[in-house]
Amino acid sequence: MKGLLAYSSHACLPSPYLKSMGIEALLFWSNWTLSCGDVFNLLELRWAKLQSCLPRLYDATITYDVGDSPLFDSPRRYASTTGDGGNSCHIRFPPRIVDLPISQVDAVIRHELGHVADFIVPYMELEEWAQAQGMSLPSTPERKADALAELIWGEKIYYNEALVQTFDSSGTAPRPEQLGL
Ligand SMILES: [Zn+2]
Repeated sequence: MKGLLAYSSHACLPSPYLKSMGIEALLFWSNWTLSCGDVFNLLELRWAKLQSCLPRLYDATITYDVGDSPLFDSPRRYASTTGDGGNSCHIRFPPRIVDLPISQVDAVIRHELGHVADFIVPYMELEEWAQAQGMSLPSTPERKADALAELIWGEKIYYNEALVQTFDSSGTAPRPEQLGL
């Protein structure tokens, strides 16, 4: 995986040391000040887990950066994932991603990786994989991304008052219709 760093005022270098300590350390130490490097490290660690669950993804590539997108005009949007129709996807975060608590960044990342699985893994293969674990996937892409994330990491994704992904169960699940399903 290659990180295409679009340096912004918020961006900083990835911190390989924290990454080498693993997800728990990353989540713990990032509670004080979050950098783009922390976001990218967390993404890479979550991506490795997704690949281990769906080994077809070892042949896939994801790239990521921090940058602008018309989608980010909506204040609730903290990431966007685009597929190339083949084996690669690009995930972009707005600079304000570092303003979210790390646990919510994690929820956003898991949702986006749900999209990655949906973009790259053939439809029937993904359906059969989910059914083997007792879940039938929603037919719409946004709820499907949340369902895939729940299957892979074992935690349900909710939406808080600001309509951003969270693990806080006082939020709403499944994803509210007004956000697009
Ligand atoms: Zn989405």
